[in-house]
Amino acid sequence: MPKTKPVIGVLALQGDVREHAAMLEKAGARALPVRRERELSEVDGLVLPGGESTTMSRLLETFELLDPLRARLAEGLPAFGSCAGMILLARQALDGRQDQHQLDALDVVVRRNAFGRQVDSFEEDLDVEGLEGGPLHAVFIRAPWVEKAGAGVRVLARVPRTEAAGAAADRIVAIRQGAVLATAFHPELTGDERVHRLFVGIVQET
Ligand code: GLN
Repeated sequence: MPKTKPVIGVLALQGDVREHAAMLEKAGARALPVRRERELSEVDGLVLPGGESTTMSRLLETFELLDPLRARLAEGLPAFGSCAGMILLARQALDGRQDQHQLDALDVVVRRNAFGRQVDSFEEDLDVEGLEGGPLHAVFIRAPWVEKAGAGVRVLARVPRTEAAGAAADRIVAIRQGAVLATAFHPELTGDERVHRLFVGIVQET
């Protein structure tokens, strides 16, 4: 029997919702925007897009999604966070706001806007563990990096040591812990759906 298409939600409070939905469809899933608790209860996995983690944290409260989302993550809901999504999933964010909520689904400490204030955006080809077909072109936009990762966290990619990378060389920018995946960059923007395929695979396995 062919596997049924997993239904993957995209948290639709802010950010690159349409782009993630398009990539998920391309990668073999059915994408569903999630703004309500009922929608959250219908999905097999959830993408948390980039945007502004402080704003998304506030909107999670406004839409009464914070506690239901925490509960589903604690039950093992597969999740993929890019950029601000990675920040939200982390247990701690440095250079965040005092009142910013953490979903605590990843045993990592991230630093917001880590690539420096001048460097609004930065692009680099990355070798990502688990992706076949060569390096992935990664676009970083006011991106975080992972400053500390617990023993249960698998590092999938680091910034290579190039001239452009400068002080960001070797920083951790893609991780996986169980069914939770996160990238500091925006794989929804480059037309290469391999990261989304990896996530769809995680959802199908789970
Ligand atoms: N700097 C943003 C934050 O702190 C993240 C940027 C992004 O998602 N592109 O939430």
